[in-house]
Amino acid sequence: MLIDRIDPTVTYDGPRAALATLSGSPIWGLGDGFASFAEGQGARLLGVYRPRTPYGPGPQLGHYAAPGGREFLRIPSYGMVAGEDWSLRAAEWKVFWLLWQAGVEVLLVGGTSGTCDWRTADEAVLPGDFVLPWTYFSLDPVPTGLPGTELESVLAERVALMDEPFCPSLARELEREVRGLETSAFRRVHGQDAHVVLNRWQYGAFETRGTTLFLQQYGRSIDCPVITGDCLSPVLARVCGMHLAYYHVPANWAEGLRPQDLASTLDQLYLETLPRVCATLELRLLSRIQPPNDCRCRDLLRARPPEYRAALSPPAPEPG
Ligand SMILES: [Zn+2]
Repeated sequence: MLIDRIDPTVTYDGPRAALATLSGSPIWGLGDGFASFAEGQGARLLGVYRPRTPYGPGPQLGHYAAPGGREFLRIPSYGMVAGEDWSLRAAEWKVFWLLWQAGVEVLLVGGTSGTCDWRTADEAVLPGDFVLPWTYFSLDPVPTGLPGTELESVLAERVALMDEPFCPSLARELEREVRGLETSAFRRVHGQDAHVVLNRWQYGAFETRGTTLFLQQYGRSIDCPVITGDCLSPVLARVCGMHLAYYHVPANWAEGLRPQDLASTLDQLYLETLPRVCATLELRLLSRIQPPNDCRCRDLLRARPPEYRAALSPPAPEPG
């Protein structure tokens, strides 16, 4: 589906909340049963919406009250819509336009990863671990603005600095929450001080051996292990004024680094092992976190002097 027109007159009429979750593969095993699982944990589903966006019909948006009453929004699976190609930029534009319009300040995202760690010792990032990535890189450009809105990517007016793309304050809260689970669900927890780098997955197919060997050797050369997996645009989160709380569950070795049968082992992990643990973790976090004020997420979106804009061609006059 291609966008042939952006409709800037669309207005948002859905629910508002400061917190949202967009998690994907860690919770896939619940299917469409997240609401009933959440209600079993003391949350309440307040409504389900399908708002329009300037870029076409948006993904499903659930409005919840977490245990204790704090409200949050949930868009399942990063905003992917069945039958639509998520690699088109409009998919991420729709998600972030909705969350921006809804007043979201804290965005929780969980994904799964293939680890490309070169180490074999116990400190390595292994399948079954829990990772709070420190930074990321992408082999293809990520979306950087919301076209047709005041957040259109206009470098002369503001620039997103991408130090600390994943809110360090919220990473500490996630680490505290995962270490507090009653059962040791994960082999090892790697906080941001472990300096794990996330390679944003190029949606559509798993990595080739050529890519994973590159990532393994790159990680060795900078002394930072690399994991590769789902990653929404951290630039869009920054431009939209959101603190991004990002966690990853390495599910497997990246292709070619160890003998494994990805086709069968991943299904069991996604369907049986992860979903209840990760959904419980998220509901507990959403029931207590606040937008932090001890991080630099907001400061790293920099307004620029008016001279930068004045150096460009002026906007074209309206026809007629
Ligand atoms: Zn922050």
